[in-house]
Amino acid sequence: MALSPVATKRVFQDVWICMNCSAKNKGQKGKPAAKCRKCSSKRMRLKKKGKKKAG
Ligand SMILES: [Zn+2]
Repeated sequence: MALSPVATKRVFQDVWICMNCSAKNKGQKGKPAAKCRKCSSKRMRLKKKGKKKAG
């Protein structure tokens, strides 16, 4: 079952990964979550989207 483009965008664009514990955190459009929900770290990276085994 394929996700719609809208759902894909929402899932991948607004999900941030904690660089400390790798927890997924929901952000808001283009902005990371204020802090990690698990470890309260503020270091986030945007989740990479798309291809498996890329790069
Ligand atoms: Zn964390």
